[in-house]
Amino acid sequence: MVIKYNLEELKSFKGGDFLVASLYLNVDGNKYPKKEYTISLKGLLKQSRKEIGRKTKSRQAKDAVEEDLRKIERFVLYDFQRANHKGLAVFSCSGNEFWQVYRLPRPICDTLIVDRDPYTRPLTTLLNECHKYCTILVDHKRARIFEVYLGNIKEHSFIFENVPSKVREARWYGPEERRIERHTDDLLRHHYKKVSEVTLDFFKRKLFDWLILGGSQKAIQELEDTLHPYLKEKIVDRVFMDLSLPVGEVLEKTLQIENKVERGYEERLVQQLMNQIGSSNLGVGGLSDTLFALSQGQVHILLVSDGFRAPGLVCEECKYMAIDIKNCPICGTKLTKVPDIIGEAICVAIAQNCQVRHISQNSELEKLGNTGAILRFKT
Ligand SMILES: [Zn+2]
Repeated sequence: MVIKYNLEELKSFKGGDFLVASLYLNVDGNKYPKKEYTISLKGLLKQSRKEIGRKTKSRQAKDAVEEDLRKIERFVLYDFQRANHKGLAVFSCSGNEFWQVYRLPRPICDTLIVDRDPYTRPLTTLLNECHKYCTILVDHKRARIFEVYLGNIKEHSFIFENVPSKVREARWYGPEERRIERHTDDLLRHHYKKVSEVTLDFFKRKLFDWLILGGSQKAIQELEDTLHPYLKEKIVDRVFMDLSLPVGEVLEKTLQIENKVERGYEERLVQQLMNQIGSSNLGVGGLSDTLFALSQGQVHILLVSDGFRAPGLVCEECKYMAIDIKNCPICGTKLTKVPDIIGEAICVAIAQNCQVRHISQNSELEKLGNTGAILRFKT
Protein backbone atom coordinates (compact mmCIF):
# COMPACT_ATOMS: atom_id res chain seq x y z
CA MET A 1 0.00 0.00 0.00
CA VAL A 2 1.56 3.26 -1.12
CA ILE A 3 1.07 6.08 1.37
CA LYS A 4 0.16 9.28 -0.38
CA TYR A 5 0.75 12.58 1.26
CA ASN A 6 -0.84 14.44 -1.55
CA LEU A 7 -3.03 16.74 0.43
CA GLU A 8 -3.62 19.08 -2.49
CA GLU A 9 -5.08 16.26 -4.54
CA LEU A 10 -7.28 15.33 -1.59
CA LYS A 11 -8.49 18.88 -0.97
CA SER A 12 -9.44 19.44 -4.59
CA PHE A 13 -11.07 16.03 -5.03
CA LYS A 14 -14.80 16.05 -5.80
CA GLY A 15 -16.93 12.93 -5.65
CA GLY A 16 -19.13 14.04 -8.57
CA ASP A 17 -21.94 11.47 -8.90
CA PHE A 18 -20.42 9.50 -6.04
CA LEU A 19 -19.95 10.14 -2.31
CA VAL A 20 -16.65 10.22 -0.43
CA ALA A 21 -16.09 8.37 2.86
CA SER A 22 -13.67 10.14 5.23
CA LEU A 23 -12.55 8.18 8.28
CA TYR A 24 -10.53 9.51 11.21
CA LEU A 25 -9.53 7.04 13.88
CA ASN A 26 -7.61 7.44 17.11
CA VAL A 27 -5.24 4.45 17.14
CA ASP A 28 -3.03 5.72 19.99
CA GLY A 29 -1.29 2.76 21.63
CA ASN A 30 -1.51 4.49 25.05
CA LYS A 31 -5.29 4.59 24.82
CA TYR A 32 -5.81 1.34 22.90
CA PRO A 33 -2.98 -1.07 23.81
CA LYS A 34 -4.93 -4.03 22.40
CA LYS A 35 -6.20 -2.30 19.26
CA GLU A 36 -9.59 -1.59 20.87
CA TYR A 37 -9.96 1.12 18.22
CA THR A 38 -11.54 -1.56 16.02
CA ILE A 39 -14.58 -1.32 18.34
CA SER A 40 -14.86 2.43 17.67
CA LEU A 41 -14.50 1.70 13.95
CA LYS A 42 -17.35 -0.81 13.99
CA GLY A 43 -19.59 1.71 15.76
CA LEU A 44 -18.78 4.39 13.18
CA LEU A 45 -19.42 2.01 10.27
CA LYS A 46 -22.74 0.88 11.71
CA GLN A 47 -23.90 4.48 12.12
CA SER A 48 -22.79 5.40 8.58
CA ARG A 49 -24.54 2.40 6.99
CA LYS A 50 -27.78 3.50 8.63
CA GLU A 51 -27.45 6.97 7.12
CA ILE A 52 -26.53 6.12 3.52
CA GLY A 53 -30.16 6.23 2.39
CA ARG A 54 -30.42 9.85 3.52
CA LYS A 55 -27.26 10.87 1.66
CA THR A 56 -28.17 9.74 -1.84
CA LYS A 57 -31.03 8.25 -3.85
CA SER A 58 -28.79 6.79 -6.55
CA ARG A 59 -28.46 2.99 -6.40
CA GLN A 60 -25.04 3.21 -8.00
CA ALA A 61 -23.79 5.78 -5.44
CA LYS A 62 -25.21 3.71 -2.55
CA ASP A 63 -23.43 0.59 -3.77
CA ALA A 64 -20.20 2.54 -4.14
CA VAL A 65 -20.42 3.84 -0.54
CA GLU A 66 -21.09 0.30 0.70
CA GLU A 67 -17.92 -0.71 -1.09
CA ASP A 68 -16.03 2.24 0.48
CA LEU A 69 -17.10 1.20 3.97
CA ARG A 70 -16.18 -2.46 3.34
CA LYS A 71 -12.81 -1.42 1.93
CA ILE A 72 -12.08 0.85 4.92
CA GLU A 73 -13.09 -1.90 7.35
CA ARG A 74 -10.88 -4.49 5.63
CA PHE A 75 -7.98 -2.05 5.58
CA VAL A 76 -8.15 -1.14 9.28
CA LEU A 77 -8.75 -4.72 10.44
CA TYR A 78 -6.30 -6.59 8.24
CA ASP A 79 -3.81 -4.33 6.45
CA PHE A 80 -3.12 -1.39 8.73
CA GLN A 81 0.10 -1.67 10.74
CA ARG A 82 -0.04 0.76 13.65
CA ALA A 83 3.70 0.83 14.50
CA ASN A 84 4.21 4.15 16.36
CA HIS A 85 1.36 5.95 14.65
CA LYS A 86 -1.34 7.47 16.83
CA GLY A 87 -3.88 8.59 14.28
CA LEU A 88 -5.23 7.26 11.01
CA ALA A 89 -7.12 9.03 8.25
CA VAL A 90 -8.58 7.20 5.24
CA PHE A 91 -10.46 8.68 2.28
CA SER A 92 -12.28 6.48 -0.17
CA CYS A 93 -14.46 7.06 -3.22
CA SER A 94 -14.69 3.71 -5.01
CA GLY A 95 -16.84 5.17 -7.79
CA ASN A 96 -13.85 7.30 -8.82
CA GLU A 97 -11.22 4.80 -7.71
CA PHE A 98 -9.97 7.33 -5.16
CA TRP A 99 -8.16 6.07 -2.06
CA GLN A 100 -5.77 7.85 0.30
CA VAL A 101 -4.33 6.82 3.65
CA TYR A 102 -2.52 9.05 6.16
CA ARG A 103 -0.74 7.54 9.13
CA LEU A 104 -0.40 10.30 11.70
CA PRO A 105 1.94 11.07 14.59
CA ARG A 106 -0.89 12.44 16.78
CA PRO A 107 -4.16 11.01 18.07
CA ILE A 108 -7.21 12.28 16.23
CA CYS A 109 -10.96 12.35 17.03
CA ASP A 110 -12.97 9.36 15.79
CA THR A 111 -15.20 10.44 12.91
CA LEU A 112 -16.64 8.87 9.79
CA ILE A 113 -18.27 11.26 7.37
CA VAL A 114 -19.86 10.37 4.04
CA ASP A 115 -20.36 13.41 1.86
CA ARG A 116 -19.86 14.94 -1.60
CA ASP A 117 -16.31 16.07 -0.73
CA PRO A 118 -13.59 14.67 1.51
CA TYR A 119 -13.76 16.02 5.08
CA THR A 120 -10.24 17.41 5.42
CA ARG A 121 -10.27 19.89 8.30
CA PRO A 122 -9.02 17.55 11.09
CA LEU A 123 -6.22 16.43 8.81
CA THR A 124 -5.16 19.92 7.76
CA THR A 125 -5.24 21.13 11.39
CA LEU A 126 -3.05 18.25 12.45
CA LEU A 127 -0.68 18.57 9.51
CA ASN A 128 -0.31 22.29 10.22
CA GLU A 129 1.23 21.23 13.50
CA CYS A 130 3.81 19.07 11.71
CA HIS A 131 6.56 20.87 9.85
CA LYS A 132 8.14 19.68 6.64
CA TYR A 133 11.93 19.58 6.52
CA CYS A 134 14.29 19.62 3.56
CA THR A 135 17.78 18.21 4.08
CA ILE A 136 20.47 18.86 1.47
CA LEU A 137 23.76 17.01 1.42
CA VAL A 138 26.34 18.73 -0.71
CA ASP A 139 29.98 18.54 -1.68
CA HIS A 140 31.95 20.15 -4.50
CA LYS A 141 30.73 17.59 -7.04
CA ARG A 142 27.41 16.23 -5.93
CA ALA A 143 24.24 16.99 -4.00
CA ARG A 144 21.30 15.01 -2.64
CA ILE A 145 17.96 16.54 -1.66
CA PHE A 146 15.59 14.91 0.83
CA GLU A 147 12.12 15.67 2.09
CA VAL A 148 11.33 14.62 5.67
CA TYR A 149 7.72 14.77 6.78
CA LEU A 150 5.71 12.95 9.44
CA GLY A 151 8.71 10.79 10.25
CA ASN A 152 9.15 9.61 6.64
CA ILE A 153 11.97 10.43 4.25
CA LYS A 154 11.97 10.69 0.48
CA GLU A 155 15.00 11.37 -1.69
CA HIS A 156 14.17 13.76 -4.51
CA SER A 157 17.24 14.75 -6.47
CA PHE A 158 20.72 13.59 -7.09
CA ILE A 159 22.87 16.22 -8.75
CA PHE A 160 26.21 15.35 -10.24
CA GLU A 161 28.56 17.87 -11.81
CA ASN A 162 31.77 16.92 -13.56
CA VAL A 163 34.12 19.08 -11.49
CA PRO A 164 37.80 17.98 -11.53
CA SER A 165 38.77 17.07 -7.97
CA LYS A 166 41.83 19.32 -8.13
CA VAL A 167 43.95 21.17 -10.61
CA ARG A 168 46.28 18.80 -12.41
CA GLU A 169 49.65 18.30 -10.76
CA ALA A 170 52.22 20.42 -12.59
CA ARG A 171 55.91 20.88 -12.43
CA TRP A 172 55.51 24.55 -13.12
CA TYR A 173 52.49 26.80 -12.82
CA GLY A 174 51.91 27.92 -16.38
CA PRO A 175 49.05 29.33 -18.45
CA GLU A 176 47.59 25.85 -18.99
CA GLU A 177 47.23 25.27 -15.22
CA ARG A 178 45.71 28.71 -14.71
CA ARG A 179 43.23 27.95 -17.47
CA ILE A 180 42.28 24.66 -15.77
CA GLU A 181 41.94 26.44 -12.42
CA ARG A 182 39.64 29.10 -13.91
CA HIS A 183 37.66 26.37 -15.59
CA THR A 184 37.38 24.48 -12.27
CA ASP A 185 36.21 27.63 -10.44
CA ASP A 186 33.56 28.18 -13.10
CA LEU A 187 32.36 24.61 -12.78
CA LEU A 188 32.23 24.88 -8.99
CA ARG A 189 30.21 28.09 -9.15
CA HIS A 190 27.94 26.49 -11.70
CA HIS A 191 27.53 23.41 -9.50
CA TYR A 192 26.48 25.33 -6.36
CA LYS A 193 24.26 27.60 -8.42
CA LYS A 194 22.54 24.59 -9.91
CA VAL A 195 22.03 23.02 -6.45
CA SER A 196 20.49 26.24 -5.16
CA GLU A 197 18.22 26.46 -8.22
CA VAL A 198 17.05 22.89 -7.76
CA THR A 199 16.45 23.64 -4.05
CA LEU A 200 14.34 26.69 -4.90
CA ASP A 201 12.38 24.70 -7.45
CA PHE A 202 11.91 21.96 -4.86
CA PHE A 203 10.67 24.54 -2.36
CA LYS A 204 8.12 25.90 -4.84
CA ARG A 205 6.75 22.40 -5.38
CA LYS A 206 6.93 21.06 -1.83
CA LEU A 207 6.74 24.17 0.37
CA PHE A 208 8.97 22.82 3.10
CA ASP A 209 9.08 24.78 6.35
CA TRP A 210 12.73 24.35 7.33
CA LEU A 211 16.02 23.65 5.66
CA ILE A 212 19.02 21.67 6.93
CA LEU A 213 22.39 21.86 5.16
CA GLY A 214 24.78 18.91 5.46
CA GLY A 215 28.34 18.55 4.21
CA SER A 216 31.78 19.96 4.92
CA GLN A 217 31.94 23.46 6.35
CA LYS A 218 33.32 24.75 3.05
CA ALA A 219 30.66 23.10 0.88
CA ILE A 220 27.86 24.31 3.17
CA GLN A 221 29.22 27.86 3.03
CA GLU A 222 29.54 27.77 -0.78
CA LEU A 223 25.95 26.58 -1.14
CA GLU A 224 24.58 28.99 1.44
CA ASP A 225 26.20 31.91 -0.42
CA THR A 226 24.26 31.07 -3.58
CA LEU A 227 20.89 30.28 -1.95
CA HIS A 228 17.90 32.53 -2.51
CA PRO A 229 17.55 34.96 0.46
CA TYR A 230 14.14 33.51 1.26
CA LEU A 231 15.65 30.03 1.59
CA LYS A 232 18.52 31.33 3.73
CA GLU A 233 15.93 32.37 6.30
CA LYS A 234 14.65 28.79 6.40
CA ILE A 235 17.99 27.28 7.46
CA VAL A 236 17.66 25.82 10.95
CA ASP A 237 20.91 23.88 11.15
CA ARG A 238 24.20 23.16 9.38
CA VAL A 239 25.85 19.85 10.18
CA PHE A 240 28.72 17.76 8.97
CA MET A 241 27.28 14.86 6.96
CA ASP A 242 28.97 12.64 4.44
CA LEU A 243 27.35 12.73 1.03
CA SER A 244 27.20 8.95 0.78
CA LEU A 245 25.28 8.58 4.08
CA PRO A 246 22.55 5.89 3.81
CA VAL A 247 19.01 7.31 3.63
CA GLY A 248 18.09 5.82 7.03
CA GLU A 249 20.92 7.74 8.70
CA VAL A 250 19.96 10.97 6.93
CA LEU A 251 16.47 10.48 8.36
CA GLU A 252 17.83 9.83 11.84
CA LYS A 253 20.02 12.97 11.78
CA THR A 254 17.16 15.06 10.40
CA LEU A 255 14.75 13.83 13.08
CA GLN A 256 17.27 14.71 15.81
CA ILE A 257 17.49 18.25 14.44
CA GLU A 258 13.73 18.41 13.96
CA ASN A 259 13.24 17.46 17.59
CA LYS A 260 15.54 20.27 18.72
CA VAL A 261 13.91 22.83 16.41
CA GLU A 262 10.36 21.85 17.40
CA ARG A 263 11.19 22.02 21.12
CA GLY A 264 12.56 25.53 20.56
CA TYR A 265 9.39 26.50 18.69
CA GLU A 266 7.22 25.13 21.49
CA GLU A 267 9.22 26.98 24.15
CA ARG A 268 8.70 30.25 22.28
CA LEU A 269 4.98 29.51 21.97
CA VAL A 270 4.65 28.80 25.71
CA GLN A 271 6.63 31.99 26.40
CA GLN A 272 4.21 33.91 24.19
CA LEU A 273 1.33 32.40 26.18
CA MET A 274 2.97 33.32 29.51
CA ASN A 275 3.51 36.89 28.32
CA GLN A 276 -0.13 37.16 27.28
CA ILE A 277 -1.29 35.79 30.63
CA GLY A 278 1.20 38.04 32.47
CA SER A 279 -0.14 41.14 30.79
CA SER A 280 -3.67 39.77 31.46
CA ASN A 281 -4.29 40.12 27.80
CA LEU A 282 -4.91 37.46 25.15
CA GLY A 283 -4.01 34.33 27.10
CA VAL A 284 -5.54 31.85 29.54
CA GLY A 285 -3.94 29.00 31.48
CA GLY A 286 -5.30 25.91 33.21
CA LEU A 287 -7.97 23.46 32.16
CA SER A 288 -11.04 25.25 33.49
CA ASP A 289 -10.27 28.64 31.91
CA THR A 290 -9.09 27.04 28.67
CA LEU A 291 -12.31 25.03 28.31
CA PHE A 292 -14.32 28.16 29.03
CA ALA A 293 -12.43 30.13 26.37
CA LEU A 294 -13.03 27.31 23.87
CA SER A 295 -16.73 27.28 24.68
CA GLN A 296 -16.76 31.02 23.97
CA GLY A 297 -15.00 30.60 20.60
CA GLN A 298 -12.09 32.79 21.76
CA VAL A 299 -9.21 30.40 21.15
CA HIS A 300 -6.62 31.08 18.48
CA ILE A 301 -3.98 28.50 19.51
CA LEU A 302 -4.70 25.68 21.95
CA LEU A 303 -1.64 24.40 23.82
CA VAL A 304 -1.71 21.00 25.53
CA SER A 305 1.08 19.04 27.21
CA ASP A 306 1.75 16.02 25.03
CA GLY A 307 0.02 12.93 26.45
CA PHE A 308 -1.96 14.91 29.06
CA ARG A 309 -5.42 13.53 29.81
CA ALA A 310 -8.08 14.49 32.31
CA PRO A 311 -11.72 13.58 32.93
CA GLY A 312 -14.34 16.26 32.43
CA LEU A 313 -17.91 17.10 31.52
CA VAL A 314 -19.50 17.84 28.17
CA CYS A 315 -22.92 19.09 27.13
CA GLU A 316 -24.22 16.63 24.53
CA GLU A 317 -26.42 19.35 23.07
CA CYS A 318 -24.08 22.30 22.52
CA LYS A 319 -20.61 20.86 23.28
CA TYR A 320 -20.05 23.19 26.25
CA MET A 321 -17.14 21.77 28.28
CA ALA A 322 -16.30 22.09 31.95
CA ILE A 323 -14.70 20.20 34.83
CA ASP A 324 -16.71 21.22 37.86
CA ILE A 325 -20.33 22.17 37.12
CA LYS A 326 -23.43 19.98 36.86
CA ASN A 327 -25.56 21.69 34.23
CA CYS A 328 -24.74 23.46 30.98
CA PRO A 329 -24.90 27.25 31.54
CA ILE A 330 -25.85 27.74 27.88
CA CYS A 331 -28.76 25.32 27.42
CA GLY A 332 -29.36 23.88 30.90
CA THR A 333 -28.76 20.25 29.87
CA LYS A 334 -27.17 17.97 32.48
CA LEU A 335 -23.49 17.59 31.58
CA THR A 336 -22.15 14.13 30.69
CA LYS A 337 -18.96 12.75 32.20
CA VAL A 338 -16.18 11.95 29.72
CA PRO A 339 -12.89 10.20 30.55
CA ASP A 340 -10.84 12.42 28.25
CA ILE A 341 -11.90 16.06 28.15
CA ILE A 342 -8.66 16.99 26.33
CA GLY A 343 -9.68 14.83 23.36
CA GLU A 344 -13.07 16.60 23.35
CA ALA A 345 -11.38 20.01 23.60
CA ILE A 346 -9.15 19.23 20.61
CA CYS A 347 -12.19 18.15 18.56
CA VAL A 348 -13.97 21.41 19.40
CA ALA A 349 -10.82 23.42 18.62
CA ILE A 350 -10.53 21.77 15.19
CA ALA A 351 -14.20 22.42 14.46
CA GLN A 352 -13.56 26.09 15.32
CA ASN A 353 -10.55 26.20 12.98
CA CYS A 354 -8.11 26.86 15.85
CA GLN A 355 -4.49 25.81 15.76
CA VAL A 356 -3.68 22.98 18.14
CA ARG A 357 -0.20 22.44 19.47
CA HIS A 358 0.96 19.50 21.58
CA ILE A 359 3.85 20.61 23.80
CA SER A 360 6.55 18.17 24.92
CA GLN A 361 7.80 18.36 28.50
CA ASN A 362 7.52 22.05 29.23
CA SER A 363 7.57 22.82 32.95
CA GLU A 364 5.96 26.25 32.48
CA LEU A 365 2.91 24.73 30.79
CA GLU A 366 2.81 21.88 33.32
CA LYS A 367 2.71 24.45 36.15
CA LEU A 368 -0.20 26.16 34.41
CA GLY A 369 -2.13 22.88 34.48
CA ASN A 370 -0.94 21.34 31.19
CA THR A 371 -3.32 23.43 29.11
CA GLY A 372 -3.52 26.99 27.92
CA ALA A 373 -4.70 29.07 25.02
CA ILE A 374 -3.64 32.13 23.09
CA LEU A 375 -6.86 33.97 22.35
CA ARG A 376 -8.29 35.75 19.32
CA PHE A 377 -10.19 38.23 21.46
CA LYS A 378 -11.10 39.05 25.04
CA THR A 379 -14.64 38.85 26.35
ZN1 LIG B 1 -25.42 22.98 26.41
